[in-house]
Amino acid sequence: MPAFLRLLILLLLPTLTWAQSLPLPSGQTQVLPGPYMEVWEDPSGQAEFSEVRALPDSAWQAINRRDASFGYGGSTYWLRLDVHNPHHRAPGWMLVIGNPLLDQLDAYGLDGTRVYRAGDQRPFNWRWIEHRQLVLPLNLEAGEQLRIWLRMQTAGSANLSATVMTHDTFDHEEQRSLLLQGLFFGALIAMLIYNLSIYCITRDRNYLWYSLFVASFTLYQFIQLGFALQWLWPNALTWHQMSFPFSSALATLFGIHFTYGVLELDKAASPYRWVARVLQGCSWLVMGMALIGPYTPALIGSFVLVIACAVAAFVITLLRWRDGYAAARLFALGWFVLITASLASILTGTGLLPYSLLSLHAQQVGGLIEMTVFSIALAARIRHAQEAEHQAQAKLIEQERRLRNEQAKHLQLQTQISESLEQRVQERTATLQDTLQQLSNANLRLAELNRRDGLTGLFNRQTLSEELARACARGERSRQPLAILMMDLDHFKQVNDRYGHLAGDACLRHAAQRIQQRLRSSDLLARFGGEEFVALLDSTDLTGALDLAEQLREDLSRNPCHYQQQSIALSLSIGLHAGVPHDPGCGEHWLELADRALYRAKAGGRNQVVSYEANALDGA
Ligand code: GH3
Ligand code: MG
Ligand code: MG
Repeated sequence: MPAFLRLLILLLLPTLTWAQSLPLPSGQTQVLPGPYMEVWEDPSGQAEFSEVRALPDSAWQAINRRDASFGYGGSTYWLRLDVHNPHHRAPGWMLVIGNPLLDQLDAYGLDGTRVYRAGDQRPFNWRWIEHRQLVLPLNLEAGEQLRIWLRMQTAGSANLSATVMTHDTFDHEEQRSLLLQGLFFGALIAMLIYNLSIYCITRDRNYLWYSLFVASFTLYQFIQLGFALQWLWPNALTWHQMSFPFSSALATLFGIHFTYGVLELDKAASPYRWVARVLQGCSWLVMGMALIGPYTPALIGSFVLVIACAVAAFVITLLRWRDGYAAARLFALGWFVLITASLASILTGTGLLPYSLLSLHAQQVGGLIEMTVFSIALAARIRHAQEAEHQAQAKLIEQERRLRNEQAKHLQLQTQISESLEQRVQERTATLQDTLQQLSNANLRLAELNRRDGLTGLFNRQTLSEELARACARGERSRQPLAILMMDLDHFKQVNDRYGHLAGDACLRHAAQRIQQRLRSSDLLARFGGEEFVALLDSTDLTGALDLAEQLREDLSRNPCHYQQQSIALSLSIGLHAGVPHDPGCGEHWLELADRALYRAKAGGRNQVVSYEANALDGA
């Protein structure tokens, strides 16, 4: 028959109501001896075996359940079981008491007068068979009958969890069980190492709390399954008693810390935090009770605490989920599994739930599922964190990109501004240069105008003085002759008087023009004053000067001035001086000499040329 079918039959076996001799099973069958047992309760726990043995049959009550399970009453229970070997062989059987936390279990009638004394409040080496559970050998010959008395006394759950099977089945089951337990603890330790490693790498406190949660839960299970007494502290009986509720409360405390951190309750509304704080306080209280207080209240307290915390965590997780905290979904599932498993386990302990393999290992299976779910949830949390980080990074990159764009725009704008500024500066500079050029031209024109006479356009007296000084210096240096002609229009007052001043002005312009056109480009003609002109002739000796002066006089006398259909005759008297200057500052003196010659020309009758040299000779 396949194993799961056998398990199903065990689970579905109807509750039997009679107590008769238990036929010891053959093959691989396992029998729950509950229905074959009778119980006598000894509330004081003082009864001796001899007294119990002498009790009338009527004192004994049949156990109408598949398991002898009496909850947390604290009484001593005497159990009576008749077994017989209906087979022709004697393979040897085992009565396995599956609850290793029973404080005391005594068995009478097993092996002559020898009394089996075991339980977790007795040194481990008292056990006949070295096993985490309480294992009693049943050796019955073919057809033999045996009556067994069991005395069960415990401060915890008075739950025998007994099974009867052959030696071989026991060995077989044992191997399978050890494999399963190994897998169970292996999985827990793997989870512990994994989460502890993640804590070491990420320094995220939640992984530390979770690791401690897993570690304390592992310890709790190690104690509950009887491994702790067998392997860790076989003689530390007082500590062993305390350790069970203590480890439970410790696991609860770390569970609260873990839940608090992982659901980010510090960021949530204050009622969440208050509930968490109260439950933390209760955990400390239960741990304290486990260490110094009475055992049973501490044990029950630890169970209540587990349920309360699991329910609170479940509800808070759901509320956080509703608040929009997505990671809460998986946690809610984990808590739900733990609540169910814990309830099943505790109800089995109180006898409210019928004993079965499933309910016995409910907490183990539930715990394993829960731990796995939490591990996945934590991993999912990493992914959420990574996603959030990625999003933040993307946002940052986007911000940077925008900033760069802004910068580029700014730069472009700046370039545009500086370009237009440069252009404007260039334009302004060009305008300014233009204006400066115009100004300089105007200044040049002004300077030129300053050198000229307004009426005739000839050089003025000031310019004559400057040019005369320069010409004298030049002549002196180059030993080249220089001539000065001083010219005066004759009787010009009469012209004014007769024709008017405007006609006089026209005559002045006419005379100037006629004289100018006869001169060389290197010669200089200036209006000396009123109707007087001075010509400065470079590289011209006396003869050349006299010749030119005569030409000028003759030209003007032959060419009258025409003004408003009138012909105005003009004549010119010229005094001159020529020679090689011996003194660079001779200018003014030479002018005076020319003027003297002019005076002579006037005095001599006008319209004639007189040189100073001739006069000087005359005078001499
Ligand atoms: P002379 O033959 O002795 O030189 O006789 P003159 O009349 O020419 O000499 P005078 O010195 O007595 O008179 C000069 C005249 O020249 C007086 C003035 O009316 C005239 N005159 C001087 N400057 C100007 C001028 O700019 N325009 C006009 N229309 N007449 C002028
Ligand atoms: Mg004059
Ligand atoms: Mg005159």
